[in-house]
Amino acid sequence: MKIEHIEIHPLVGKLDQPFGWSQRWTDERATQVVRIIADNGAYGWGETGVGPDALAGAAASLIGQNPERIGAIWQSIINPRYQSGGYAGPASNIASAIDMALYDLVGRARGLPVYQLLGGKVRDRICTYATGLYYVPSDLEDKTWSDFLEEAQGYVDQGFTGMKMKIGGLKLKEDIDRVHALRRQVGDEIRIMVDANEAYDPMTAIQAAHRIADADVTWFEEPCSSRADEDNLLVTSRSPVPTSGGESASTRREVARLLKNRVFDIIQPEIVNVGGISELKLSASMAEACNVRFVPHFWNTGISFSAILHTLATVAQSPPAHPKEPYVNEPVTEFDQTPHPVRESLTDPIFKQTDSHVAVPDKPGLGIEIDEDALNHFRQGDAIVVQ
Ligand SMILES: [Mg+2]
Repeated sequence: MKIEHIEIHPLVGKLDQPFGWSQRWTDERATQVVRIIADNGAYGWGETGVGPDALAGAAASLIGQNPERIGAIWQSIINPRYQSGGYAGPASNIASAIDMALYDLVGRARGLPVYQLLGGKVRDRICTYATGLYYVPSDLEDKTWSDFLEEAQGYVDQGFTGMKMKIGGLKLKEDIDRVHALRRQVGDEIRIMVDANEAYDPMTAIQAAHRIADADVTWFEEPCSSRADEDNLLVTSRSPVPTSGGESASTRREVARLLKNRVFDIIQPEIVNVGGISELKLSASMAEACNVRFVPHFWNTGISFSAILHTLATVAQSPPAHPKEPYVNEPVTEFDQTPHPVRESLTDPIFKQTDSHVAVPDKPGLGIEIDEDALNHFRQGDAIVVQ
């Protein structure tokens, strides 16, 4: 088998209503979808966030290569950046999309689901929590937080056992009040996570952590700038709530830095940033060996979500205790529920949860197909074809 050509599809979906987090607001959702096609007709899908020109530049060097040499191709993208001291930056995003697409392609070519290529699954479904509860325009006016609480109740009614809300986008006391309002709304049985998206300095983050602790918050995500290890470490050492972070980490080296220094209590690599399926699986193993909880980040479409499900299907229970329990020793992943027109129509299946769990696809490759109408509808201009 040889890689014959590679398509790049820049997709953008406009939102009916903007939403926001501590750093900014958005009125669109975007992803870069990649399809790698081999000379025997086998193909595979991947995605990432880096721009199409960077992807096209890397794709050119892959034409004619054997797509089954996933590790060699991954290294050919990342290794030229080694001298940057482990920060692979955009190369890590490129490798993420390529790696994902190669696993999908090889799985389809061999008639095996990706989890079989990773050693076989140890569980059939993955526990998820709802990511939502971003800021919406009414939050700036309505201090009873009625839309926020209604959204939260919706997740409870759908069967989610956990949900994550944003903090850091309002004045501190308002955000603290919202955390407690959420706890009152959903009762004692639902896990609540809070995500500041790097909003605070260490002092404010530590104060905030103390003021939300008695709302039984499962973790406090990205309290400070994600590359400020000393600041995050200070919060981790003084916060009564476990901390989490790592969604922007690129490759094993950045994940290892966070693990070695125990910067966060929970590590959250994002498959489209860290380096794809290969690197997410490796990160899970490193976290397991370090006894740090591993909870992958997710923010794109069903392509990368399926890749996360396949990977988590194969990771060990950690620690290997009895009974099995998500958040304690069984894997959990984020399941973005915020509006995303592309995610909501691009893949078959559109992933859904039942009892807060999502089934791991069993068809070959990632086990998804792409809706070509959706692909064409959301694409900005023509697909870029590298051959
Ligand atoms: Mg986050």
